[in-house]
Amino acid sequence: MGMTMKKPNIRRSWVEVNLDILAENLRIYRQSMQGDHPIMAVVKANAYGHGDLAVAGRLQSEGVRDFAVSNLAEAIRLRQGGIAGQILILGYTPVELAKDLLEYDITQAILDEDYAAALAATGVKTKAQFAIDTGMNRIGLDALEPGDCERTIRKYSGAFALTGLFTHLCVADTDDTDCRVFTALQQALVRAGAERVGDLHLPFVHCLNSAGGLWHGQADGLVRLGIILYGLKPDYANDLPAGIRPALEWKTVVSMVKTVHPGETVGYGRTYRADADRVIATLPTGYADGYNRLLSNCGQVLINGQSAPIIGRVCMDQMMVDVTGIDGVRPGDEVTLLNHDTYTADDMAETIGTIGYEIVCDISARVERVYLP
Ligand SMILES: *Cc1c(COP(=O)(O)O)cnc(C)c1O
Repeated sequence: MGMTMKKPNIRRSWVEVNLDILAENLRIYRQSMQGDHPIMAVVKANAYGHGDLAVAGRLQSEGVRDFAVSNLAEAIRLRQGGIAGQILILGYTPVELAKDLLEYDITQAILDEDYAAALAATGVKTKAQFAIDTGMNRIGLDALEPGDCERTIRKYSGAFALTGLFTHLCVADTDDTDCRVFTALQQALVRAGAERVGDLHLPFVHCLNSAGGLWHGQADGLVRLGIILYGLKPDYANDLPAGIRPALEWKTVVSMVKTVHPGETVGYGRTYRADADRVIATLPTGYADGYNRLLSNCGQVLINGQSAPIIGRVCMDQMMVDVTGIDGVRPGDEVTLLNHDTYTADDMAETIGTIGYEIVCDISARVERVYLP
């Protein structure tokens, strides 16, 4: 019958993470950064949706020794999964759980003086690093009050096993004069703070995120590398070093194909109306998989390398696309939702006015992660 045999798809909606691309991104980033900084891999939020254990495990075998997460559960997962180096929690941990910090050898960020006092009161001498607020106004001791900062750090330097200070840059990804000046100010503030307590010989004083390490890397200290490791941009306007590309692809399959006739509508709210015979394919991926509903009637997917627009509203578990111009689309055919180059999480993000970070972090737990090679 001249039928070509395709490999059957036994999956519904899945992410393929290419760990070689991840390792290559790390290698290119190291070559491209200003200065020779150690890398702390930021693997919070399930490694930005890529799978924290697989990602951290591969990075550990590439020589990375320092990791950062957002919370205690993420930290314990890494430790139990065989990650041996430093694991820093960048955000809040209830002090009632301080014993776990010690048991799993986790380093806790100290958010402010009240948090320092509460954690010290537990009597658990956990590893810790003070967050210093240099302008983000999120967490940290206020760097604009250097005397208070110094006093607080000294007061608690014996209560914890204090290993460092860090701040977070808020405009390192933006290349205009105001932002460059502000970033330089943030770096100067943390440096000045560290100098005031220089006698404590804190081994980790750091401020650089992905963007900072590439474009503001004159400062010392390790780079907390997140988004660029995964091959995405801190900001749309950024150009990444050549060769860095998204490590994941997101795929689904065609579950059904049908023709709708002029005047018929598709989906909830009847927001799409056919003006001619249209061939539509149904896909078993929806917003419960993390496929953003704002892509209704404006997103696209790729089938056989061709673009198929989303028609109607994205449903919880399914969506419909127009495949009228694409020959021979059949149930079981593979569909690409995100790929390494022509339609990335950054491209999808731009359509709906968000950032690639949110697109990949949102891919939900029920989407299977498959690791290549
Ligand atoms: C998430 C985070 C990072 C990583 O930022 P990227 O822009 O993804 O590189 C670094 N530092 C802190 C404190 C963070 O919260």
